[in-house]
Amino acid sequence: MTSISERLQAVRTRIHEAESSAGRTAGSVSLLAVSKAHPAAMLREAFAAGQTMFGENYLQEALAKQEELAGLAIEWHFIGPIQSNKTQPIAQHFDWVHSVDRLKIAQRLSAARLAGQAPLNVCLQLNVSLEDSKSGVTLAELPELAHAIQALPGLRLRGLMAIPAPVTDFDKQRRQFAIVRQAYEDLKKQGLALDTLSIGMSEDFPAAIAEGATIVRVGSAIFGPRN
Ligand SMILES: *Cc1c(COP(=O)(O)O)cnc(C)c1O
Repeated sequence: MTSISERLQAVRTRIHEAESSAGRTAGSVSLLAVSKAHPAAMLREAFAAGQTMFGENYLQEALAKQEELAGLAIEWHFIGPIQSNKTQPIAQHFDWVHSVDRLKIAQRLSAARLAGQAPLNVCLQLNVSLEDSKSGVTLAELPELAHAIQALPGLRLRGLMAIPAPVTDFDKQRRQFAIVRQAYEDLKKQGLALDTLSIGMSEDFPAAIAEGATIVRVGSAIFGPRN
């Protein structure tokens, strides 16, 4: 069986290869290890292998792991759906939130961030799928939401996140990510100081890197399958 440290190394190698074939600077893509459904011991193992950014989807599960791993210098990212009654603990216990898609949620996160904390880093989740079941803001609603969120004092708007429908073909993957990249470039042209494109998961992160990803969110390729 392959260890977490070996799988992490293999993912890092593939990230470097994708950076290089896209003509991008080595180290311009950060790896977010998505650890949902895996025990704290596995995060500890990844941390020991040099991984410091971890992504979690479920608040209660994340808080329990944070308590178990208190003392490790982990940067915690919340990447799951946000219920409005959970905004306070999310705002106070995470460094980043990738899944903001409504102004009301953003306002609550901003208000809940503590005075002694740096503003919470947020990405807006863009819906690039045609299925209306998927969460995320639509392309049409994005500019207004981005400008409103940029003005909130407790938040620092960093960029966009998206989860396109899974497809296996590299060029099809790229085309979906290109929509997100275009939206990101358009917002920057409108004067927003963004620096983060959070796209790409285990099955499609090389295509996301070819389209400009600055954070890839990788779970199963590091930790194995989830139950
Ligand atoms: C679970 C999850 C991931 C990681 O998915 P893998 O396919 O296991 O790499 C990335 N982003 C989000 C938002 C997720 O929920």
